[in-house]
This record gives sequence, structure tokens and C-alpha cells, in this order.
Amino acid sequence: ITILAIESSCDETSASVCVDGKILSNKIATQKIHEQYGGVVPELASRVHIQNIVPVVDAALKEAHTAMNDIDAIAFTQAPGLIGSLLVGTQFAKSLALALNKPLISVHHMQAHVLANLITEQKPEFPFLCLTVSGGHTQIVVARSPLELEVIGETIDDAAGEAFDKTAKLLGLPYPGGPLIDKHARAGNPHAFTFAEPQIPGLNFSFSGVKTSVLYFLQKQTKENPSFIDQNLDDLCASIQYTIVNILLKKVRKAVEKTKITSVCIAGGVSANSGLRNALTEMGQKYGWKTYVPEFQYCLDNAGMIAITAYHKFLAKEFATLDISPSARAEW
Ligand code: ATP
Ligand code: MG
Ligand code: FE
Repeated sequence: ITILAIESSCDETSASVCVDGKILSNKIATQKIHEQYGGVVPELASRVHIQNIVPVVDAALKEAHTAMNDIDAIAFTQAPGLIGSLLVGTQFAKSLALALNKPLISVHHMQAHVLANLITEQKPEFPFLCLTVSGGHTQIVVARSPLELEVIGETIDDAAGEAFDKTAKLLGLPYPGGPLIDKHARAGNPHAFTFAEPQIPGLNFSFSGVKTSVLYFLQKQTKENPSFIDQNLDDLCASIQYTIVNILLKKVRKAVEKTKITSVCIAGGVSANSGLRNALTEMGQKYGWKTYVPEFQYCLDNAGMIAITAYHKFLAKEFATLDISPSARAEW
């Protein structure tokens, strides 16, 4: 079964070819234009998707040595995301399905982030827990089978990725700041400064307080010493990262206790964070869990994760009709 998958929910245009559950190509075009605006500009994102989508699909087919006629189904991200961005991928996939007379498969972006963990050789067995941490979501998911996923905890305000990006902005770092905090944190002391941790019951998260705590701290320090941030950038990044990772992993521990499921995965853009990856692995060793982290190329938005999800939907014969439309927000 050969699947061509397209991802265009935000500011990455991506295409992937997957044969019998094995990813043969995963091409990602990241849009640089948003950097100068300090965040993704939706209107610009859709326009760049239009420019990128044909070359990216061509490149994915070429790398996989696959011709259009070899494709058995076309998959696309249907929700959630920026509506203009989603429309480009959806319309492209529908047109291709119509032209090739092949089935269409719609994929939920957040389910796909979770299933990115199935791409590698050493994949988790079901059931497993997944901490999905991205730019717009922070969720703890129970995966009972590829298509039986249940959200058992989520953020009540900002996402973990937003917490990274917003605090990075306070430090004067460009968008997206998450990877830069990660980079500076490697040279810093995670215990140099402490920031407020929210007290949220159950398995839900809150991150807006972290941002506020960092903001007030920086305001106070820079009043006394205007160069405070420059002089302490590595330590600040390490301490902020430590705070966010700590909040995330405390809830993961709670989720393991509650569900008794000891296979634990992470997913989403923030799962690329080295502090989170290391801390999860250490926690797993300490408590006897099996832990899994996706390869870097499958952490951030990518079509490989759409393709692997579509493969399982193909096996379950879950196809979409040609009148389907994308949705900015979506339940699952
Ligand atoms: P969603 O998946 O919720 O719709 P999204 O698709 O925009 O949102 P992703 O592309 O999965 O999110 O992830 C982007 C986020 O990941 C950004 O907030 C970015 O800062 C963060 N991120 C990426 N790499 C790292 C890293 N190494 N450390 C911390 N954060 C990171
Ligand atoms: Mg992105
Ligand atoms: Fe995403």
C-alpha cells in the first residue's frame, strides 16, 4: 500500500511517501517569512503553501522513487490548524484523488503527532501514554490502538510550546524561541533561578503563570542591571526549560500512576527539546518505564506522521468523501 501524505496545517509544507507503513520520504519546507513578524502570519502562510506544495510533493515522490500512478491513496491534514493553510493541502489532496481516481484519507494533526512514535523500528506496544507538546497543544493521551486515542489531560491556557516561545520573546530571542532556549540551556545552570510552578489538580496543565513569573523576575532584575539578560542568558534559558520540563513530567508521572500504563512516549514540536528528552529517559530508568522519543524529523510538523496515521486508517478502511472540508478546530 503506497500512500502520499500532505501536511499544511501551519507554516510547514510537507509531503511524505509511505509504503506498507514504512516512510520512504519526508520532505519539509519551513516558511522563513514569519521570523520577521515574531509569529506565524496566517495570510502569508497560505500563500507560501501554494508556492511550495507542488515542488515539495514532487521532491517526496522523487526521493521515494514513486510515480503518481503507484499511489494507492492520498492523505492530508484535515484539522486542526490555520484554516487558510489547511485549505491548500485539502484542496490539493482532493484534486489529486479526483485526478488519479484514488481514495482520500483525512487525518487529525494531533493524532498524527502521537502516531509519529510508530514510525521507528523500536516502537511502543499498545497501550501507551503520550505526552503531546506542541505550539498549540499540551495533552496527555492514552493510545489503546492506532485509532483509539483518548485525551486524559490538557492545558487550560497556554501550550508548552507557547510557554517556550513567549518566554524566549521576553529574553529578546527571535521566533520560534523554543529551539533557541534549548540551545542556550545546554550551557546554563538549570538551578540558577526558580520560577513559579502552577498548582493545577488532576492531569491538566497551566503555563500562563510561568510566563508571568519570568516577566516579573526580568523586570525587577533589569531595573537594577540593564545587562542582566545578556549576562545570564544561558542560565535563564536553562532555568526556564527546567521549569517547563518539570511541570510536564510531574503530570506524566501522575498519569502513569493513574492508568498503570508504563510505556511512555512524547510527541510534537517540544518533544525535540533535549532537556525534555533527557529528563524523560532518566525518569523512565528511575521508575522502570519504557520510554520512547520520535526521531527529530518526526517531532515538528511533518507529513511522515500524517502518512503513518493514514496507513492505519487505510487498513481500517476509513476513507473520506470528496466533499470533505478542513476545520481550524476539531474534536477527535
Ligand atoms: P499544533 O501541533 O499544536 O497544531 P504546531 O504544529 O505549530 O502546533 P509544532 O510544529 O508541532 O506545533 O511545534 C512547534 C513548537 O515546538 C514551537 O512552539 C517551538 O518553539 C517548539 N519547539 C521546537 N523545537 C523545540 C526545542 N528544541 N525546544 C523547545 N521547544 C521547541
Ligand atoms: Mg511550525
Ligand atoms: Fe503540530
